[in-house]
Amino acid sequence: MRAYVIGNVTVDETISVSAMPEAGASILGREETRDLGGKGANQAVVMGRAGLAVTLVAAVGEDFRAETIRSQLAEEPVEARLIQLAGKASDFSIIFTTPDGENAIVTTTDSAGSLTLAEAVTPLAESIPGDLLVLQGNLTDEVTRGILEEARHRQLLTAFNPSPLRPFFTGLWPLIDIAFLNKGEAESLTGAAGQAAASALISAGVKHVVLTLGGEGAMLASESGALTIPATPASVIDTTGAGDTFMGVTLASAALRGVPLDARAVRHATAAAALTVSRRGTRSAFPTKAELHSILAG
Ligand code: ATP
Repeated sequence: MRAYVIGNVTVDETISVSAMPEAGASILGREETRDLGGKGANQAVVMGRAGLAVTLVAAVGEDFRAETIRSQLAEEPVEARLIQLAGKASDFSIIFTTPDGENAIVTTTDSAGSLTLAEAVTPLAESIPGDLLVLQGNLTDEVTRGILEEARHRQLLTAFNPSPLRPFFTGLWPLIDIAFLNKGEAESLTGAAGQAAASALISAGVKHVVLTLGGEGAMLASESGALTIPATPASVIDTTGAGDTFMGVTLASAALRGVPLDARAVRHATAAAALTVSRRGTRSAFPTKAELHSILAG
């Protein structure tokens, strides 16, 4: 099975601050890391390191950040299909982190928002039924829906992470097999929490729902029921990329074993995400190939 991740790629600038800035404030901070990021790239890198064959489709601009993105992706076990957009800026994120491990993130979408449907779906011509399509919320409404429809047409398994939140997501559920949401996303999109949120998505057509609950772990739900798996204890330093690590490992664990999402996949993901939250940065905080190999063997 191959995973096709169609999404964004960014350069992440992480700045540590003593407390989150208030509107109108000027505060001091320290640059901690400059790292490859973006939800699309993050999930692709984690799945690639876990051992799954991965193609990442993402747009970059014509600037110094595109070079950073290309060189960092070249070090990862991911087939990168980067679409270079003339005259555009590559996307980047500014991430504020506080000493208690909280973060606030601003991501630009000049490149991701310019990716056309034709550019996004061209690599899917090489897919075979049963391959995995992985999508997040950074592309436009039209492109997001078009990719999901193309994936249905090609009989791919679709996994969607509705982040960052956008109003058009509510109409997409019938096109989605697996949805990963954090607490805030689940509440905003369903008006409910926990199992009630998962049930609402299952009624709307999603087959497997995974709710991530931060330090409380995660819930896996399907028509046959729901189970909650506690987080693996961790010394939290920076939670950036925890959700992407979790999603990438859950999908890779099940795909590599050739099974639908199961409790074992979620346990693997909580172990991997515990490593990510205990380190600074985005790509540099993700579990290594060796760490993932050992987690997936457990
Ligand atoms: P982020 O946006 O920070 O990447 P998220 O909001 O998408 O994360 P969370 O629910 O916060 O997702 O976290 C994803 C997973 O990471 C959790 O299900 C859990 O396994 C792990 N995790 C998060 N916070 C902690 C913590 N404090 N201790 C241990 N594990 C954690």
